[in-house]
Amino acid sequence: MTVFVSRDKINSGFTSKVQRLADQNLMACYQCGKCSAGCPMAAYMDVPPNQMIRLAQLGMEDELLDSEAIWLCVSCMTCNTRCPKGVRIAELIESMRQIQLRARQDHLQAEKISAADLRAIPPIALIGSMRKFTS
Ligand code: SF4
Ligand code: SF4
Repeated sequence: MTVFVSRDKINSGFTSKVQRLADQNLMACYQCGKCSAGCPMAAYMDVPPNQMIRLAQLGMEDELLDSEAIWLCVSCMTCNTRCPKGVRIAELIESMRQIQLRARQDHLQAEKISAADLRAIPPIALIGSMRKFTS
């Protein structure tokens, strides 16, 4: 992933918006990487948890909201328990999903799920996915 840093992005309101929604202090993170080291989904993410925090500190909204990683997080809270600074990373990632969903940027288009998939997917998984991925 290529990241472009600019003064405008760093000064954007995105950082404060994420902090406010999650009720967390992003600036407490000192990039130790323990959150990513314990994350069961980090290997599949285009942006691992510690890098998500760094991008959020820098106000890099597009890079974060366009990432797959915010949707791959399964909210297991492992990162929260490992962080030596008490940063609740899972809540920060949830706030990023909420920013997208409140803007009606759904991650899942229900109408695109095939009839065969609808029959095959367990109802509880379907309902859970609709709750997480759609507004
Ligand atoms: S809550 Fe999300 S980011 Fe944190 S360890 Fe679990 S899957 Fe990874
Ligand atoms: S564990 Fe906490 S301090 Fe370490 S990189 Fe992750 S968020 Fe930052």
